[in-house]
Amino acid sequence: MSTTDDVLKANEEYVRNFDLGHLAVRPARHLAIVACMDARLTVEQFAGLKTGDAHIIRNAGGVVTDDVIRSLLISHYLLGTNEWIIVEHTDCGMLTFKDEELLSRLEKETGVVAHAPSNFYAFADLETNLRRQIAKVRAHPWVPRQILVRGFIYDIRSGRLNEIKA
Ligand SMILES: [Zn+2]
Repeated sequence: MSTTDDVLKANEEYVRNFDLGHLAVRPARHLAIVACMDARLTVEQFAGLKTGDAHIIRNAGGVVTDDVIRSLLISHYLLGTNEWIIVEHTDCGMLTFKDEELLSRLEKETGVVAHAPSNFYAFADLETNLRRQIAKVRAHPWVPRQILVRGFIYDIRSGRLNEIKA
């Protein structure tokens, strides 16, 4: 039995009690959250959200990549979100390596050079990186001025969100 088999088993149980089929496509709280994919962050739980409340966009580091901008633009223009939150966290794996090191390692282990990804977006300082992500969102020409964009560092030890002013 693989973990995927366990997932399918859990889904059967989920379906038996499922009662969310009525939810609207537009997030009820008009909120989008960009967060790190770290397995210790359960965004819905630490943010008090229910299914259908918000878009949750996750990747390694909670980095505002082109694809995150793509999702945020769709989130706002097509699905009505007008508050965006970026969440990074203490003890993030992205603090533990450098892009160049990982690139070299992968090229060595696989024996090939790949054209993508062009960046892993590893970073050395959490607050600086978070401010940079907020700035990237705010500076985008298609992001309307009136959208509230705030950034937080989630403390892995306490579960608390600490705001970092841009
Ligand atoms: Zn992380």
